[in-house]
Amino acid sequence: MARKNKTCLMCARPINEEDVRFKGVYGYICKHCAEQISGMSSLLSEEEMLDELTENDEGISFTPKSIKEHLDKYIIGQEHTKVVIATAVYNHYKRINHHSETELQKSCCLLVGPTGTGKTEIARAIAKYLNVPFAIADATSLTQAGYVGDDVETILTRLLQAADYDVEAAERGIVFIDEIDKIANSSNGNPSITRDVSGEGVQQALLKLIEGSEVMVPPNGGRKHPNQEMIKVNTENILFICSGAFVGLDKIISRRMNTKTLGYGLIDKNKEKIDKENILHHVTPKDIKNYGLIPEFVGRMPIITYTDKLDKKSLVRILTEPKNAVIKQYKEIFEIDGIKLEFGKGVYDYIAETALKTETGARGLRNIIERVLLKPMYELPGSGKKEFKISKKFVEEQLKVA
Ligand code: ADP
Repeated sequence: MARKNKTCLMCARPINEEDVRFKGVYGYICKHCAEQISGMSSLLSEEEMLDELTENDEGISFTPKSIKEHLDKYIIGQEHTKVVIATAVYNHYKRINHHSETELQKSCCLLVGPTGTGKTEIARAIAKYLNVPFAIADATSLTQAGYVGDDVETILTRLLQAADYDVEAAERGIVFIDEIDKIANSSNGNPSITRDVSGEGVQQALLKLIEGSEVMVPPNGGRKHPNQEMIKVNTENILFICSGAFVGLDKIISRRMNTKTLGYGLIDKNKEKIDKENILHHVTPKDIKNYGLIPEFVGRMPIITYTDKLDKKSLVRILTEPKNAVIKQYKEIFEIDGIKLEFGKGVYDYIAETALKTETGARGLRNIIERVLLKPMYELPGSGKKEFKISKKFVEEQLKVA
């Protein structure tokens, strides 16, 4: 397969034509790296430019802090997780780019936390920042070979598609595997199991991918059939981020910590107060094993972190603050028609409260906004109106109708 993308000399990431900032005799520099080289101007000679580059012998132009800062633009709260993931991702790419004698072992991450709290968004934002291909897979749709469903290799089909079939780019990409908790073994009395036939088989199959191996991937997905030409993908440098809500894990952690519920909180055996709401903060690999993931699989995910439940205040912030905040997006949609959209007092709070009731984290926000704005989106374009103010009363009415 022909390589379509150029590669940056500094970070070795594939770059599109529009992201090329410098062209030299030895290759190209992407915009991220160009920004990193302080004081560098386009007037630097190629020699000077290469001097600058060799100083960074690890070939990485980003730092854990710069990744975290980028995440801050998109993800509200989840401070600890952002630090953990930014560091893990930095170490992962350092391992890839640093050709050392000592073999640095690959580490994958596991993100545990309620639905709609930003797990997928964190992974997506990182892939965007690093400009690497990104694919999302749902563990529940996977089966071990021989059963009805998708073979685990199809995860890589998605990654290849995201990389525009540039195999080398895909081999440095990020794969996000959601609902990993749903393929745990049911024998542990875990309440969220929906099947048990192939759970362990899928874990074994995923383990092979995560450990790093050469996998024959069907380019268009689906079942392997003899006539389909396979693409060989080496998963050694692919970063796998697994995620799940792990319903019931709090009980396993509490049991391990020998805690008792005492009114508002929990007290562990050392009399240390533990925040009951945030029991997931104490998660360890052992708890994940007890939940029903096989030890080999857990062993491959030494980095385990959590996302917290979102409260009303966070939901209001999510509505308005991130770079791609829903409110900003809708205001822009109206602006294209020359209409200024405004939100009255208490509207954000009311929307956040409504979302809170659905218990789907920030997931419900967009849907609520869609319902609220349907009427104005339908009626205002072409009406000659130049502005529209959404009041709390209007929101209540729209949500009643929908
Ligand atoms: P999950 O934790 O289930 O993977 P997602 O990351 O898919 O949740 O989040 C669902 C939606 O809610 C996305 O549109 C995302 O932008 C938004 N969202 C969730 N949590 C946050 C957060 N902490 N900050 C900003 N947006 C968030």
